[in-house]
Amino acid sequence: MARTYVIGAGLAGLSAAVSLARAGRVVTLCEASGQAGGRCRSYFDDRLGCAIDNGNHLLLTGNRSAMRYLEAIGAAEELVGPASACFPFLDLRTGERWRLRPNAGPLPWWILDPRRRVPGTRALEYLSGLRIARAGADRTVADCVGDHGSLFERFWEPLAVAALNSPVRTGAACLLWPVLRETFGKGEAACRPRIALTGLSGTFVDPALELLRRRGAAVRFGTRLRAIAGEGGAARGLDFGTEAVALKDGDSVVLALPPQVAASLVPDLAVPEESHAIVNAHFRLSERGGLPEDLPFLGLIGGTAQWLFVRGDVASITISAADGMVDEDADVIARKTWRDVAAALGCPPRPLPPYRVVKEKRATFAQTPAQVKRRPGTRGRFANVYLAGDWIDTGLPATIESAVRSGHMAARAIDGGVP
Ligand SMILES: Cc1cc2nc3c(=O)[nH]c(=O)nc-3n(C[C@H](O)[C@H](O)[C@H](O)COP(=O)(O)OP(=O)(O)OC[C@H]3O[C@@H](n4cnc5c(N)ncnc54)[C@H](O)[C@@H]3O)c2cc1C
Repeated sequence: MARTYVIGAGLAGLSAAVSLARAGRVVTLCEASGQAGGRCRSYFDDRLGCAIDNGNHLLLTGNRSAMRYLEAIGAAEELVGPASACFPFLDLRTGERWRLRPNAGPLPWWILDPRRRVPGTRALEYLSGLRIARAGADRTVADCVGDHGSLFERFWEPLAVAALNSPVRTGAACLLWPVLRETFGKGEAACRPRIALTGLSGTFVDPALELLRRRGAAVRFGTRLRAIAGEGGAARGLDFGTEAVALKDGDSVVLALPPQVAASLVPDLAVPEESHAIVNAHFRLSERGGLPEDLPFLGLIGGTAQWLFVRGDVASITISAADGMVDEDADVIARKTWRDVAAALGCPPRPLPPYRVVKEKRATFAQTPAQVKRRPGTRGRFANVYLAGDWIDTGLPATIESAVRSGHMAARAIDGGVP
């Protein structure tokens, strides 16, 4: 029976493998490292004495591919969040706190209600969002919504930097619009925030691996693809260094790899070349909690940290588009960001609690207009090789939703019967 080799066990590879295995295909999943999950994983941290995620990940209920994937692997219940859409914020400079509360239905009347919108903004200002809808491929977010004022600082900037992991002055507006359309544009039911309270691996990764094993898929760690042997426009063999696999007629390959790795394996493949960093700092608190249980995250304005998440007795902050900070000492980053956490949670600013700083230098590709144009589609140069990854042209920013959707797109390209 024809076999599909899925190379790379990040969420794109897991999504492709799960879709194919559920459709009854024979799957081998090969991952270079000793763990699945790629940029979305948990691990036990010796210094903190507990499991942490490589970085905080926020989803919205409108991320329909991610939600379908979680249902398929039986992990939909692992995500937690408020019963209705609500985004709490704190301006660290003024101490002002507010909650952004989109309304039900597609007509956004929440912008007319001062108790639901951002304080210090007027309803008409929100119409600047329509310029994002109409933005051409060369426009940045700042080209559409400007780069100053309360609405910019308290709404567009936190939203765009989190979604695009790129500064607003360079981030591509055409990638922000699909996010708005698929979430805020559909009303509050599509923009309820969700987090993996028990951890990323337990939610997105381990249940997928269990499903694959139950369906008879082979899962191999420590298996790095080094070269693809091609002939007559098709891949004929996979070179894993210590082992070479000959591909039979009907076999296919999904490359669910980082862009630079895919480009080194597939001739003439143009991929996004620039990337941006994300920095996370995790602090072990002396006691649990600090934020309401149904809203365990907080947007921070005017500080160093951009988002704060609290899970049990671990408070974690995220800084996206963090290239200017990623080379600073972990100790300096921890001290700067703990000030923000302490102010937000009402903890004493000293002493600094035990911490871990996780720097992902290539967290996502730089989502600028020029780099977005370099995203390839699902098909590569070889007829039986398919591409997946958050960086391929899904029309979405490089997020979990894009990774999962790309894996599903590759699976459907291989087998049109994949649901
Ligand atoms: C800190 C951080 C915070 C984030 N926050 C959010 C968020 O809040 N919301 C959101 O939706 N998204 C977020 N993201 C983005 C999200 O994590 C990614 O979009 C997604 O995990 C990408 O999955 P992927 O499968 O495309 O790529 P990867 O996870 O990079 O997977 C590629 C896999 O290929 C493996 N590999 C590499 N080379 C080889 C080889 N030669 N042979 C075999 N295997 C190989 C790698 O080890 C890896 O496991 C965040 C990312 C980071 C880093």
